[in-house]
Amino acid sequence: MLSMLFKKFSLLVFLWVSLALTIRAQDTVQKVIADRTNSPEQQKKPYVILISIDAFRWDLADKYQAKNLIKLRESGVQADYLKPAYPSLTFPNHYTIATGLYPAHHGVVDNIFYDKARDVVYRKSDKKMAVDSSWYGGKPLWILAEEQKMLSAIFYWPGSEISMNGIRPTYLYNYNEVIPIDRRVAIVKDWLQLPAEKRPHFIALYFPQVDQAAHKHTADSEEARAAVQIVDDAIGKVVEAAKATGLAVNFIVVSDHGMTTIDRENTIPLPKAIDMNKFKVPPGNVLLHLYANQQKDIKPTYKALKAEATTYDVYLSKQIPKVWHYNKKNDLYNRVGDIILVPKLPNAFNINGIKPDPGQHGFDPAIRDMQAIFYAWGPNFKSGLKIPAFENVNIYPLIAKILGLTFSNKVDGKIKVLAPILTNP
Ligand code: AMP
Ligand code: ZN
Ligand code: ZN
Repeated sequence: MLSMLFKKFSLLVFLWVSLALTIRAQDTVQKVIADRTNSPEQQKKPYVILISIDAFRWDLADKYQAKNLIKLRESGVQADYLKPAYPSLTFPNHYTIATGLYPAHHGVVDNIFYDKARDVVYRKSDKKMAVDSSWYGGKPLWILAEEQKMLSAIFYWPGSEISMNGIRPTYLYNYNEVIPIDRRVAIVKDWLQLPAEKRPHFIALYFPQVDQAAHKHTADSEEARAAVQIVDDAIGKVVEAAKATGLAVNFIVVSDHGMTTIDRENTIPLPKAIDMNKFKVPPGNVLLHLYANQQKDIKPTYKALKAEATTYDVYLSKQIPKVWHYNKKNDLYNRVGDIILVPKLPNAFNINGIKPDPGQHGFDPAIRDMQAIFYAWGPNFKSGLKIPAFENVNIYPLIAKILGLTFSNKVDGKIKVLAPILTNP
């Protein structure tokens, strides 16, 4: 009898510990700073919900008839396309949208890069790096808001898990892919129903589904179509929830970049001219950074690469095209390779023997397939307006303006680019 009870007790302990470990591993708990409130002045301000749909190329709403996005953008403002920063990858661009700075100016120059001074490779998937503010420059919008006693709530935006000078979003989810999309919508609804002093005025959401489907199956697949529908449906529900509150909620829906299809059967191997004893070369398919152990090896390797390259472009860091804001002069954190290699579409690199997915991004933002979306609607936006393409660095001053947040930190974006889309510029 006693042994039966002991067995039952042990089983319960085991189940409890397993559950606790699973929850911890997935980190699905909302992090809340309980003692924060909006100042009385901030409570009078409007609301902004910034939504990013990863890899939602400029043409996908029409291509797959995303009915909510099509209807909503018509009620507000839509850009021809949104121009990503170079390289058109997730972490550099989300952090550019959040800070108004080009990647070489905020320091997150790639999803994976080497920092010579620290002798460390940054990886977006490394949880330790996701919370370490020393990798991230600039001042993200949620920090700007919190500094001015306006509450923010961030659901998964790259770079949002750090604290800057001890400040982080009042409401925060660390990145995980296990909270179902309907649950996320319900959480946003809960945020909007909080009392005025506790209700976040700046909310950012991130949807990875389209990127994941389009990498694996290309942007032209049934899977991409289905992912577009899932996200469109979720956005429709968030908008309904916001409408029901009667609050002055503005929506800005963006993507970080587009997607193209590469030739995954004939990939480019590591060029023969690169001696791996002389250079560090983190893996990549769409951009390779070569970090020299010794300065003297840069020139000869560059020359050898130039002689050998047919399927990719080779740049010394000082020669990287000016329009990318990515060359030696721009590289404030010294994290761009001494030489970079950029494949010419439909080519892509494969230097570690892992066949790349058919869908890829990261290429020149001037390439049509890399271009993204900007749709915005709500009480602060004009309606029925179509505007020319613009660079995503300009979103920062736009949101600061709507929320009445002031800033003295230097940013690359300019308010004059988007002021004309506001009802009260
Ligand atoms: P990319 O390699 O540029 O296509 O990056 C997109 C992927 O980044 C998504 O599929 C997610 O798995 C991952 N991701 C997005 N946001 C985060 C985040 N905040 N933390 C960690 N990983 C993320
Ligand atoms: Zn992305
Ligand atoms: Zn991607």
